[in-house]
Amino acid sequence: MKKFKINQMRRDLPRRETCRTCGARIAKFMDFGDMPLAGAFLQPEQDTEFVYPMEVCFCPVCTLVQIPNVIAKDALFNEDYHYFSSVTTTLNQHFEEYAAFLSRLTADFASPTILEFGCNDGVLLTKLKEMKINGVGVDASSNVVAAGKKRGLDIICGFFDAKIAGELVKTRPRPIVITGSNVFAHNDDVENILKGVQVLLDPSGYFVVEVHYLVDLIKGLQFDFFYHEHCNYYSLQSISYLLNKFDLEVVGVQHTKLHGGSLRVVSRFKNQANLVAEDVVRLQEQEAALGLQSLDFYQDFAARIDNAKFELVALLKNEKALGKRIFGYGASGRSVTLLNYMGITSELLDFMVDESPLRAGHVMPGLHIPIYGRDKGRLEATDVCLITAWTYAKEIVQKESWYLDQGKKFIVPLPHLKTIP
Ligand SMILES: [Zn+2]
Repeated sequence: MKKFKINQMRRDLPRRETCRTCGARIAKFMDFGDMPLAGAFLQPEQDTEFVYPMEVCFCPVCTLVQIPNVIAKDALFNEDYHYFSSVTTTLNQHFEEYAAFLSRLTADFASPTILEFGCNDGVLLTKLKEMKINGVGVDASSNVVAAGKKRGLDIICGFFDAKIAGELVKTRPRPIVITGSNVFAHNDDVENILKGVQVLLDPSGYFVVEVHYLVDLIKGLQFDFFYHEHCNYYSLQSISYLLNKFDLEVVGVQHTKLHGGSLRVVSRFKNQANLVAEDVVRLQEQEAALGLQSLDFYQDFAARIDNAKFELVALLKNEKALGKRIFGYGASGRSVTLLNYMGITSELLDFMVDESPLRAGHVMPGLHIPIYGRDKGRLEATDVCLITAWTYAKEIVQKESWYLDQGKKFIVPLPHLKTIP
């Protein structure tokens, strides 16, 4: 198997000592050491890669979990950024349901406008358009904006903030809904977004965000969701605290299955006439019982991850000692966190497979394991498949059931280490 000679260069990053939301001192509960960016897949001929410190902290006051090591956002959202959300079917279905939800939410308003920040190439906007709802998008990646505009969508290129909001207020109707799905967490300065909301949102309108849910992440050991770009991890408690600072009150919440567990949080400007849904109160009570303010809660999580790492590495070493050939299935950004944290290099994994042409033909960041497309012949020459895309383990085992028929086995690393058969 080919070994790559790629030198790592460490770059320091500015580190926050205080909470992004409330300014209290934050406490560290995990340290990943030096990590590559989760999306920085390497070219085989590349000779240098950059790694950056990565820690995870929590705030004992507002409970925001955050990565304190700050990467400049310009470095992340440039024209090379090539994540097009239209391509995945799960997201497509999600946005279909989301558009229907927003349509119900705005049913009492005459010809409402909905603004989406971080709209990517406009999956949601397209669905809204099909439902004859006026949609406006804002996104910072010029290539995805160009793709959306080509399809006739109204998208502005930039970071949504008070400045863009000030321009929009002159050129477009005030939105009844401002929304962002899974982009709110990817921003060191979410307050700029909220300042934009204050300028632009209709006074009787709604601010709706979808965020990955911290409690699901912790309960389900989904620590591979930690990466530099995803700097904030919200509970209902921490997002309510943040919205409250901007005069917004949470009036509704839905707990969905998106991305292993997400919250859809609906808020409005504070007003005595606001009705707060029972679901909000119920989830607040559930969170209060968990102890999200105590270090113990997070230390227990970190200890469970360390245990998972210990068990998996021991199992892989054992297989290797028996002369087995092992490959990893699914080379996503999440697998970059998973494998780097667990220290699983090309000594243990012969190669990775991934069906995305954006990753096949590349080399795994940090670990320098080659990534190939899914070629059955290559898979047949192995003995063990480590399902790095473990949240899709069931689908992968079903799709590749021939692997079991040939007497080979699968390893599912999380949330509980499992071998099949
Ligand atoms: Zn805080």
